Amino acid sequence: MISRVFSPSAAVRWRAAQTRLSCSSPPGEEKPRPSMLRHLTSKIKATGPITVSEYMREVLTNPVAGYYVRNNMLGPNGDFITSPEISQIFGELLGVWTVSEWMAAGRPKQLQLVELGPGKGSLAVDVLRVFNQLRSVVGAASVSLHLVEVSPVLSRLQAENLTGSHSQQADAEDEPVYRRGETATGLPVSWYRRLEDVPSGFSIFLAHEFFDALPIHKFQRTQRGWREVMVDIDPEKMDQLRFVVAPSPTPASATFVQADERRDHVEVCAEAGVVVQQLARRIQQDGGAALIADYGHDGTKTDTFRGFKGHRLHDVLSSPGSADLTADVDFGFLRRMAGGGVACLGPVTQTTFLKNMGIDSRLQVLLRNCSDASTREQLLGSYDMLTSRSKMGERFHFFSLLHRSRLAEPTRPAGKRSAAPLPVAGFTELSFS
Ligand code: SAH
Repeated sequence: MISRVFSPSAAVRWRAAQTRLSCSSPPGEEKPRPSMLRHLTSKIKATGPITVSEYMREVLTNPVAGYYVRNNMLGPNGDFITSPEISQIFGELLGVWTVSEWMAAGRPKQLQLVELGPGKGSLAVDVLRVFNQLRSVVGAASVSLHLVEVSPVLSRLQAENLTGSHSQQADAEDEPVYRRGETATGLPVSWYRRLEDVPSGFSIFLAHEFFDALPIHKFQRTQRGWREVMVDIDPEKMDQLRFVVAPSPTPASATFVQADERRDHVEVCAEAGVVVQQLARRIQQDGGAALIADYGHDGTKTDTFRGFKGHRLHDVLSSPGSADLTADVDFGFLRRMAGGGVACLGPVTQTTFLKNMGIDSRLQVLLRNCSDASTREQLLGSYDMLTSRSKMGERFHFFSLLHRSRLAEPTRPAGKRSAAPLPVAGFTELSFS
């Protein structure tokens, strides 16, 4: 399949990849916004220190002043860059993965591609281009695109990239489908704020750098047991925040820390657990698979909460709302939350996944068809950024939830040897026959 998608005629197309968000606010759209810091300090004065989870949720997704919701975080000087923005190859390989899982499931008639946190929409654009190139295969299915996005600003940008002017916002603010549109090839696209609003049906779910943006709780081991880390106002500087340790157990510290935990400090993203449980339930009931790509660990790291502003690390408590906040994804926790109803694969490093998906062959095809020296240099630079172990290759991991039947040995009549299940692309090396 790889060679069909990556035909030599496929155009070499490169994004100006200096920032991942290259949309600036239309003139006149910038509204004065209440200060996030003032909002947080009033809240803390009224009700006492807040959990790190509440802090992170407010800072990132507060409907008025949240980082992802604000217009002025989008611009040529963005805060960080992601793999789909670095190279189209990334999204194309995920497109191949999607088609390959759809085929392995017996080519169901309906295929919902669901992306969680689609950013600029570039990954979906690249995946849909693969669908289009493989229309002789995928064309038999009725394909629809479903985007779960909390940010109105980013959803407009996604709509522009995916549908041009062919999308419309819902009349009422509380509509579960708050925007609808159609791609140039006629595929329906719908936008939701929450995964639970996406209709049921065979789906392939993609989540790239989505889970790391979900709010985490932080817990510290003390002599009196586990205590939750909270955010409070610094009594010496009233316009500054500081971390404090709750004097007594909180509902979260009493329930979220594993009894056999060995670390002294842990971060738990309860919301990630809820989302993974929903994904697992849907996959179990309707079939399909989820591919989660993010930086993370397998239940081994301790303090990973950090901020990014202008491509540099930023103090998480300083000028809240002006920087991205993120924490490594605990894949061990996701696996536990997925439960036994689905099969889990990974995490494997981005290097392993992309190489297994055939990134080297794809690069060679593009290089062979490209004589322009600067484009060649860009191709090689992006490849290095995505796969080099010292860059994104080792930091990012791929993890998958699959329908249990996907990895089960097919049952055969007695006496006959049962065939092995088809390998899952990316997690095992693909052979080119
Ligand atoms: N996947 C994209 C963008 C990653 S940034 C890429 O890799 O380039 C995180 C994305 O998740 C943004 O689109 C952000 O608006 C969205 N997001 C963050 N928290 C969310 C939430 N709670 N619900 C839905 N979307 C969320």
